[in-house]
Amino acid sequence: MSSEDNKDEIIQCPACGKPMIKVYMPDQGVNLDVCINGCGGIFFDNREFDKFNEQHEDISPLEKVFENKSFNKVDDSYDRICPICGWKMVKNYSSSSHDVQIDECYGCGGKFLDYSELDKFRSQYATDKERSEDVLKELYKTAGIELDAYNTNYENRMKKTNVLYKLIVNHHLKF
Ligand SMILES: [Zn+2]
Ligand SMILES: [Zn+2]
Repeated sequence: MSSEDNKDEIIQCPACGKPMIKVYMPDQGVNLDVCINGCGGIFFDNREFDKFNEQHEDISPLEKVFENKSFNKVDDSYDRICPICGWKMVKNYSSSSHDVQIDECYGCGGKFLDYSELDKFRSQYATDKERSEDVLKELYKTAGIELDAYNTNYENRMKKTNVLYKLIVNHHLKF
């Protein structure tokens, strides 16, 4: 089942189980599922999130819905189940500073953000490009040593192969 099939269906909030309300976002032309009567979380269908994650993208209809509302606090330590396809969602940090954790479904590509996390997310970087560059830098910092080791090994392997090749050519060895 694709997320398109569920466009008009009411889904349950993966964080608190309340039915989510559709909020129409005219600039992006999509309906977002928002937990207005529960925790204030937002569910984004596959690829929808990309339309809201940069600062210049208009989210004022969402801000209007949130205005003067208070939301139930939820426990974000346990695993959440995707309301579209039932897969266990995976928690991913959105930046090197690790202050926004996004629940992601690898089944349908859906994403869930707790209340206020979208604001936090958008305030960290102006554009998606800046974000990926920063995350890549962080990744290299932690994985860089292993990558260097891998590259060294690769070069050594190539050297050995070349020596072998020269031996074969120079001595007309046949296998
Ligand atoms: Zn909720
Ligand atoms: Zn899913």
